[in-house]
Amino acid sequence: MHAAPALGGVSPIGVRLTPTLVGVGRRGHVALTFDDGPDPESTPAFLNVLDDLGWKATFFMLGDMVRKAPGVAAEVAAAGHEVAVHGDVHGNMLRRTPRRTNDDIAAAYDAVATATGVRPAWFRPPFGIMSYASLRAAGRLGMRTVLWTTWGRDWRREATPQSVTADVLRRYVDGGTVLLHDSDCTSYPGSWRAALGALPRLADELSARGLVVGPVGDHGL
Ligand SMILES: [Zn+2]
Repeated sequence: MHAAPALGGVSPIGVRLTPTLVGVGRRGHVALTFDDGPDPESTPAFLNVLDDLGWKATFFMLGDMVRKAPGVAAEVAAAGHEVAVHGDVHGNMLRRTPRRTNDDIAAAYDAVATATGVRPAWFRPPFGIMSYASLRAAGRLGMRTVLWTTWGRDWRREATPQSVTADVLRRYVDGGTVLLHDSDCTSYPGSWRAALGALPRLADELSARGLVVGPVGDHGL
């Protein structure tokens, strides 16, 4: 379902995956990101826990979800988090014409900007599958594409707060970009609870390593 970008490799379409593109930023900092929201069922719970932890994160939103819950998108921005674009619908960019890719990303950008009053600066394609057309379309709107260096595999039925924490820490964390999901709209129903439950555990582990958590915009990309 998801493809992990290799650090410094080449993507299936031949785009060189530079450290910046996969989200390798400054050492000592961890960029925390959430995909697939905003979702009235789950996103508010993430905002509460992030507030408790004193963390700001980046939310890669789907235009389709933003139009269903514009108020939740606005709450994310009002809480001081960074809003970003994940596409309009959760589709594979390689199965689209450049024109449709362009339209999809522009529609998502408009939805996020309209609901939040913020011009998004970051784009992450669904499944992490880029196309040249998606890179160009995002760039035309002033957005840079960023993938991730580690993830919680939180979309799975078997995921638990323990497994999500262990999966995040197993890969590139110090200076890396963490992918979690604040909605189960493309995942196993209720799987977001595993990601939510992992946050306080991650806070303990990351602070023990002296790492500071923040949004992509603070990551030095
Ligand atoms: Zn996604």
